[in-house]
Amino acid sequence: MTMMSCCVPSRDASDRFPCLSDPVRRSTLCLRLALVTLHLIFVGFIFIFNQEFRDNIKEQPLYTSMYLLLVVVTLAQYFFTSGSSPGYVLDAMREFAKTEASLRASEVSKQPASSKNGNVVVTIDRNRSGEHLVGNNPMNWTKMVMDMYPPGTSVRTYTCSYCNVVQPPRAKHCHDCDKCVLQFDHHCVWLGTCIGQGNHCRFWWYILEETALSIWTGILYIKYLQASFDKAWLVDVIMIILLSILSIALIFLLLLLLFHSYLVVTNQTTYELVRRRRIPYMRNIPERVYPFSKGACRNLYNFCFARTSIYAMEPLPGAQELEQMSVPYTCLDVISCRCCC
Ligand SMILES: [Zn+2]
Ligand SMILES: [Zn+2]
Repeated sequence: MTMMSCCVPSRDASDRFPCLSDPVRRSTLCLRLALVTLHLIFVGFIFIFNQEFRDNIKEQPLYTSMYLLLVVVTLAQYFFTSGSSPGYVLDAMREFAKTEASLRASEVSKQPASSKNGNVVVTIDRNRSGEHLVGNNPMNWTKMVMDMYPPGTSVRTYTCSYCNVVQPPRAKHCHDCDKCVLQFDHHCVWLGTCIGQGNHCRFWWYILEETALSIWTGILYIKYLQASFDKAWLVDVIMIILLSILSIALIFLLLLLLFHSYLVVTNQTTYELVRRRRIPYMRNIPERVYPFSKGACRNLYNFCFARTSIYAMEPLPGAQELEQMSVPYTCLDVISCRCCC
């Protein structure tokens, strides 16, 4: 009995919790725990030491409830964004293959039974490599994607050497996720996921909520320090340290919010803005021209409301459209709102 128990391999934490065996998942879990802990520390200090805030719970329950609601909504938005798909190219290919297959099936059902055997069936393979996903349909993924680029563009230029898929405009391979992401913005270490076409809007809302929460928490800290200065110096020192950290985080969040708002209004991604000269199809486009912009108002509307599918893709504008976009703005253009027309 003793011998047998000795021979049984000991089970470590990663065996009991499969999610801990993957280092990427482990680091994401640690980051999430760190974020929740930070929020609990900053909010908890107000509840413990701010007598005025505690008194407000009875006198102004709505005020306290609103603050707590903001804390919960911000954390929920964090997990919601962190767990959402940024829109992977391989998933878009599967969707494309499904659509193609259903279209073909509906075409077949309309034709006489004798002609059904001659039709091509789109196969959907769940392999990681993209070459098996679209079957042998002539209207395949490669053709559809290459139609989005200017004529004469080489397929090789936009074939990802890691995933072996043809990337639509704005897609990029993420080395952290090891997948190609549609409308790639950046890989967010804090969220543990890529920010792309599928979750950029959620990411923007998360920054907004986090900024609002930081401002409100900062105001509560300042109120506490004004009311109880010189009474409990140790608590004051801790509060000042926390307020300083909060102020630095707030500056960073405000800058991030402004930066991403600018990207939304001009329909750009961080990657396109920072690595413009390294993206082949962006090299020859003048500096001040945003090729995917439909005007500030339309860009905002599309970003917030008009995302019918996270796999919707934007083709590159033609030479004529680019020429129109590159015409400098005059006062009359601004008055007539040319950017939105
Ligand atoms: Zn890739
Ligand atoms: Zn990534």
